[in-house]
Amino acid sequence: MRGESDGRNYGDAWMRRRVFTTAKALTTFERALVKVCATKATTVRVDRDDDDDDDDDDDAVRSTIDVGEFEDVTDWARRAVERGAEESRARCRAALPALEAMPTERSFFLAASDALEASVDDEGEGRSRRGRDRKVFAALHSPTRGGVYAVAANTNGGNAVLHAEMNLLFPADDARARRLIEPDTTLLVTLQCCRMCAARAVELGVRRAAYLREDPGPLASRTALAALARESRFDL
Ligand SMILES: [Zn+2]
Repeated sequence: MRGESDGRNYGDAWMRRRVFTTAKALTTFERALVKVCATKATTVRVDRDDDDDDDDDDDAVRSTIDVGEFEDVTDWARRAVERGAEESRARCRAALPALEAMPTERSFFLAASDALEASVDDEGEGRSRRGRDRKVFAALHSPTRGGVYAVAANTNGGNAVLHAEMNLLFPADDARARRLIEPDTTLLVTLQCCRMCAARAVELGVRRAAYLREDPGPLASRTALAALARESRFDL
């Protein structure tokens, strides 16, 4: 039960014990998100009152749900995203140089590699309270914006979905999300994107991604970025 033992439960364990319900078909991104949450989603069909048309819905999976059990998690999700962005900003400020100091993709990868090495040295006494986070950095680079224009760090120690890319690609409002990606933007990640993050990147219009290290995990196989041949390994 991640997130519970240190008393800083960001809702992860709570979410694991619940079933997401939805009346619409899930997008590729949403399906991957649910998978990373390790929670189950179900599509709910609301029964109509008319008793005499049973013949046309034999195929439908029906669920009887006590409405009292429903809980709207929109606010929780928003808070989790805000919290992730906040922690990510603090971590980047501490570990990476200013954006202006990273004009090229290579300069970001070099800085991120230094930061990753430094965090390995920190293991032990200097270990942070969220030490279980996998150390990953992500950035957006665009020549028209003059280089690296956004960075983020992984903060998934307390919430399984707050990968670096999620902290990077979920700005506070939709208007900002629409302006986030330029036609020449490259998504830079120190670890290959998982299915969830790749789907989000494609959803936002990312045409190219570059990663430093391959992710052998099952969640990084058959991603949307790989399927569209939009990702490649960066040789440092
Ligand atoms: Zn991911």
